[in-house]
Amino acid sequence: MGTAAAVPDETHATTHLAVEGEFGFFMIDSGCNPILRIRDAGLDLDRLGGLILTHFHPDHVATVPIFLMDTWLLGRRAPLPIYGLQDVVDRYNIMMDLFRRDEWPGFFDTPCRVVPEKTGALVFEDDDFRVTAAPVKHVVPNIGLRIENKDSGGVVAYSSDTSPCDTMVELARNADILIHEAAESTPGHSSAAQAGEVAHRAGARRLVLIHYRPAPHKYDRWIEEAAETFGGPVELGQDLATYEF
Ligand SMILES: [Zn+2]
Repeated sequence: MGTAAAVPDETHATTHLAVEGEFGFFMIDSGCNPILRIRDAGLDLDRLGGLILTHFHPDHVATVPIFLMDTWLLGRRAPLPIYGLQDVVDRYNIMMDLFRRDEWPGFFDTPCRVVPEKTGALVFEDDDFRVTAAPVKHVVPNIGLRIENKDSGGVVAYSSDTSPCDTMVELARNADILIHEAAESTPGHSSAAQAGEVAHRAGARRLVLIHYRPAPHKYDRWIEEAAETFGGPVELGQDLATYEF
């Protein structure tokens, strides 16, 4: 839904993803108000089954209150589970209380499901997907994700924000698609070349770079650098692009 690192531009919202199956869809993080992209993507908001929050940085969670408020104003009354580490869930609750959610008449419940901070932790399993997580290496507690399509057997892994780490390699083991951040090689982040290395070590089949700084003159170089370390197909993620698995 969005592909930008912290600062968005006209065509790159901050990083967030939607994963759709036969029975519904779920969201990963909440970039620039997701309501807009959900509409643009043609997804039916009534089919939203859950929201995973990877970590508590503003470009990933700051729009959660307006996203949930809009969803409520558009008529939702069914509970919407929120998945995240204890750190994230605690801060989510504080953030929603600041906005006085108790005073929103009929606001739906958002039961929080705490994801244990260990490799292979189950986030949730429904009729479409089995989603597991592992801690990754960022400046605040954060998780990467592995999403298995129970129907096709296809696997997508998503790094969230991280410097290269073994837990991400494990999560992405033999994945059909690895969606890996490429913000830069500073503490807590990865360069395109480092994302390629993780894809190579994991044996992923395809690499999509995400969470990058919109800078068109650098795109070709990033793809080259990642392809060199990966040895497989690399592309730069685009807002509203779809990937089947
Ligand atoms: Zn972050």
